[in-house]
Amino acid sequence: MHVSKFWRELPQRYRLEGKRCSQCGKVCFPPRDICPICNSNQMTSVTLPKSGKIITYTVMHTVPSHFEIFKPYIIALVQLEDGTHITTQLTDCKPENITLGMDVEAVIRKINEDGRDGIIYYSYKFRPVLKNLKKNTDKKPILQYDSV
Ligand SMILES: [Zn+2]
Repeated sequence: MHVSKFWRELPQRYRLEGKRCSQCGKVCFPPRDICPICNSNQMTSVTLPKSGKIITYTVMHTVPSHFEIFKPYIIALVQLEDGTHITTQLTDCKPENITLGMDVEAVIRKINEDGRDGIIYYSYKFRPVLKNLKKNTDKKPILQYDSV
């Protein structure tokens, strides 16, 4: 991954920033400069909701070499609270715990690194919201996460 490309994509990677068409209202994520529906170039930045539901998903067993450390991982199509669909990697869960319609939320996680001493890249991933996880029956504190 080129560092300059990654820096250009920081707003979408860290804040889920997309673009909304001022003409027809279509929201695009990743952001686009031209609306795919009406061809307008009147696109304004919009920060998308950080939660939604799983529409569908697949488990990736054969992956590109730079994603080997995450294998197997889950790719899901998520419908955000505003109706926008995004494709995302799921984290903090196993495939057998995923159900269609499950509530998920955005978190920031490592996505890649340039070699052992190189830059570590972070971006959004989604995870099941904590209320959906198995009940903590042995009375130990439930792990808390920072929200995005
Ligand atoms: Zn449009």
